[in-house]
Amino acid sequence: MSVEIQCPACGREALLARTPRYEGFRRTGEDLSCSSCGHVFASEADVPFRERAAPAIFTDEDRSATPDVFKNDPRGQLCRYCRHYVVNPFRQWCGLHKREVEATETCARFAARPPDDKKTKIVL
Ligand SMILES: [Zn+2]
Repeated sequence: MSVEIQCPACGREALLARTPRYEGFRRTGEDLSCSSCGHVFASEADVPFRERAAPAIFTDEDRSATPDVFKNDPRGQLCRYCRHYVVNPFRQWCGLHKREVEATETCARFAARPPDDKKTKIVL
């Protein structure tokens, strides 16, 4: 799944290229750049994302394996329990920050997924 941007450098509708950045073996972040002209964005906040709806490739069945252990437990701010967290066969994704996340990451913008929220929407 690719993320579309409106590149301010080349003016084109392009894709966001993400290059993992490593410090030794530890992944420290990503370099974000325009797939068309290679313009590098300083941070996620500088990326001119294009809003668009993507087809949901998820069904309720895919969701049934999700543990409900912490449903009523406010513990932590783990991405996996966040309403913005989306997981698909290829990656785990934060719909709010529009970037890849780990299930065990914590986030200041964490919003608990309502217990009745069975649907996973993928919004790019
Ligand atoms: Zn560009």
